[in-house]
Amino acid sequence: TRQPGLARIFRAAAWTLAAITLTSPFVTYRHAILLETASVFVLAILMIGAGLSAWRQGYRPAFYFLLAWSFMVAGIVVYASVSFGVLPKNFVTEYGIQFGSSIEMILLSLGLAYRFKLLREQNLQLQLEATERLEIRVAERTNELNRAMGELRTANRRLHEFSLRDGLTGVHNRRYLDETLAHAVSQSRERKAPIALLMIDIDHFKRINDTHGHLAGDDCLRAVAEVLRRHVREGDDFVARYGGEEFVVLLPGATRDDAARRAEILRKEVEGLRIDGHGETILLTISLGLAAMDGNDLHSGPDKLIRAADAALYKAKRDGRNRLVVAD
Ligand code: GH3
Ligand code: MG
Ligand code: MG
Repeated sequence: TRQPGLARIFRAAAWTLAAITLTSPFVTYRHAILLETASVFVLAILMIGAGLSAWRQGYRPAFYFLLAWSFMVAGIVVYASVSFGVLPKNFVTEYGIQFGSSIEMILLSLGLAYRFKLLREQNLQLQLEATERLEIRVAERTNELNRAMGELRTANRRLHEFSLRDGLTGVHNRRYLDETLAHAVSQSRERKAPIALLMIDIDHFKRINDTHGHLAGDDCLRAVAEVLRRHVREGDDFVARYGGEEFVVLLPGATRDDAARRAEILRKEVEGLRIDGHGETILLTISLGLAAMDGNDLHSGPDKLIRAADAALYKAKRDGRNRLVVAD
């Protein structure tokens, strides 16, 4: 694979050796053994050449193959030298090929083990890199996902907040009131703390609409909502638009007297509003119904509180409007 030219030479050598083997029955033993020894000698040199060339290309296991075939060649040279009378015949020289090939086998095994080790290390490296890449990608994806989730949570929170606000006035809407009131009432009861609820309705609002137009009517609604909002610290307290021109103010923690005092401030402030209705100044008043419960009231629920405030509001209307009526 690494040396296609060498591979061709080795293939040719293999065919040549096969041909030499086939000639064995037809030549004398002396000639045959000379031919075999010479061809193995040539082959060993070829192997060493291949090993050297692979090693120079930077293939480390080739070192072991080079060393292995060197011993083989040394064995052959020793044995051939004995055969041709150059070296004396003794145990080591006579078995030169066997010694050489034994050492060769050991070194080839070492080469194989070394190759195996290299492959395993490469494998491990590849696995590590793949895992690292995968971890980085997973981390990136996780980050993106977290960011998207964060944005989604923010959007959801805004949407939720938005869905609980009245579009015209910006105060809370009826849905918020419905979702919050029962909880606020039960919490007050748990803490044995008072709670007050104001039901507020703009007086003769239909007449304002009919006289100045619905856009001016909208301005009035916004102005009243603004007054309410200014006097109610949002938190536990809140303002909600209950219906068309009706508002609810919830005051957890406020006693009946506290709430009545604050209601009176609201009434006076609305009375003092001067709203511009296309050149004409619009004057407004509100009627207020107040219902309160103290911390020991075990029977009042949110509905009862609303009903009581509502009844008080209607009494305020009957009594002549622009006033506060406090429920019993
Ligand atoms: P009262 O003093 O007895 O409360 O009389 P009123 O005219 O205020 O009461 P009524 O219930 O007869 O009229 C309420 C009016 O509020 C009718 C409706 O057209 C108006 N209204 C409700 N919602 C809006 C709104 O969003 N914008 C405007 N401009 N008008 C609204
Ligand atoms: Mg009304
Ligand atoms: Mg009204």
